[in-house]
Amino acid sequence: MVSRVIPVDTFDLVIFGGTGDLAHRKILPGLYRRFVAGQMPEDARVIGAARAELDDSKYREEVRGALREYVDAQRFNEDHVAAFLSQLHYVQIDAQGETGWKDLHALMRDGVVKAFYFSVAPSLFGDLAERLHSHSIADSASRIVVEKPFGRDLASARALNQTLAEHFDETQIYRIDHYLGKETVQNLMAVRFGNVLFEPLWNAQYVDHIQITVAETVGVAGRGSYYDKSGAMRDMVQNHLMQLLCLIAMEPPSRFDPDAVRDEKLKVIRALEPVDPTDIVRGQYEGKGKSDSYHEDVEDDESRTESFIAMKLHVSNWRWAGTPFYIRTGKRLKARQSEIAVVFKDAPHSIFGASAGRHRNILTIRLQPNEGMTLGVTIKEPGPGGMRLIDVPLDMTFADALGPDNDAVPEAYERLVMDVVRGNQTLFMRGDEVEAAWAWTDPIIEGWQGNDDRPLPYEPGTSGPEESAMLLHRANRRWREIRE
Ligand code: NAD
Repeated sequence: MVSRVIPVDTFDLVIFGGTGDLAHRKILPGLYRRFVAGQMPEDARVIGAARAELDDSKYREEVRGALREYVDAQRFNEDHVAAFLSQLHYVQIDAQGETGWKDLHALMRDGVVKAFYFSVAPSLFGDLAERLHSHSIADSASRIVVEKPFGRDLASARALNQTLAEHFDETQIYRIDHYLGKETVQNLMAVRFGNVLFEPLWNAQYVDHIQITVAETVGVAGRGSYYDKSGAMRDMVQNHLMQLLCLIAMEPPSRFDPDAVRDEKLKVIRALEPVDPTDIVRGQYEGKGKSDSYHEDVEDDESRTESFIAMKLHVSNWRWAGTPFYIRTGKRLKARQSEIAVVFKDAPHSIFGASAGRHRNILTIRLQPNEGMTLGVTIKEPGPGGMRLIDVPLDMTFADALGPDNDAVPEAYERLVMDVVRGNQTLFMRGDEVEAAWAWTDPIIEGWQGNDDRPLPYEPGTSGPEESAMLLHRANRRWREIRE
């Protein structure tokens, strides 16, 4: 497989929060990988802007350390790193004051793509947007990238949208959901809309149910005070799981263009029915060991925030009426695994009799680990002994198909940053999408608060509370196992 790297126009990318955790772990290593892949023009520049008192050379040293830590050892090449770092600059800046803004203005070039990554707390977004304009640094062609969380409810998301809209047009705003940058997520659209095979079956007539699982093994220790104010519903469901559900459930867009795709996703969110409280299971990890307790991790014995949630959802439209979507996500679970499973219905009549057992086609879309897709099909077990049926996987693991060391498969952040430079908003959330997702989420969260609802305890290293399994057992279904 020959790697095809499509060049981008040259750019000045300013990372506000360029010394922060996200910049170190994701944004800068992602840019380095694109540099190594030959996609970053030689005269493109990355400008770190943060509070620390650094100069270009100190910042480059700091970034070298981050690359050493977060880039695969085999990709860390001294020559490449030195060349990449020479394209980096630094400005000490205060988002809420006047320090640094004149320096930034002096540094920016005309006639190149200008992008500003807001990798700082959302409370600073308004200050940054305002100063970018008052200092004539951003213009009508500039782009801004904003990180999650985008609000904590409908009112705050609306306020944030309004603040950004005072200075930037919607076509300039790139709201990141890094799940959308994953190769598999885009492949989901390719599989659905590039083949004649799946789309005729992609509806309530043939699909029994859909499962979306995002399981993590880590707890919230270290970021307990942030997490405890948010919980699994706000931190994962409102954004990542909702986006995955949209891509599975949406109607075919007329074109693969940003607004056509996002219009269809929005229709799905708006078609989500309010959730019956008996179709929601909230959990909190609670082990015997000292470091196994959510309460310990957030240092609050009374916390009622969920670290796990499972729900049964209905998309009320002609395509999906009667086919439930089961979603679950949680911390301290058995394995780190994100997958979507489309479970098709049984064949209408078995010519092989009851002894052949029950066989179902399942299309599994794995986001991590080992991105890829598997289609389970039923065949005859080879050999003599009559007609015994078995299920075998048709495996489409991308690493196998493309080769493990292929630069053509960028990771989520690097793809998304390059999309910003290209001006392609398809994989970014539009303001109305985010608001619609909060409009659906808010009443559910308010319901718990009104009822004084307590999450159910679950043992770390399991698949969550037993009641989560019951959610499916009630309908004679079962979750797919969580495993690496
Ligand atoms: P961080 O605390 O590690 O870094 C914050 C950065 O903001 C630092 O560079 C700091 O200098 C800068 N900063 C703070 N106040 C400033 C001011 N007044 N003026 C100029 N710069 C200022 O934060 P982080 O973990 O890198 O997160 C950044 C953003 O990304 C947040 O909105 C966070 O919610 C979001 N995010 C982070 C992660 C992650 O894994 N770290 C994941 C998803 C989203």
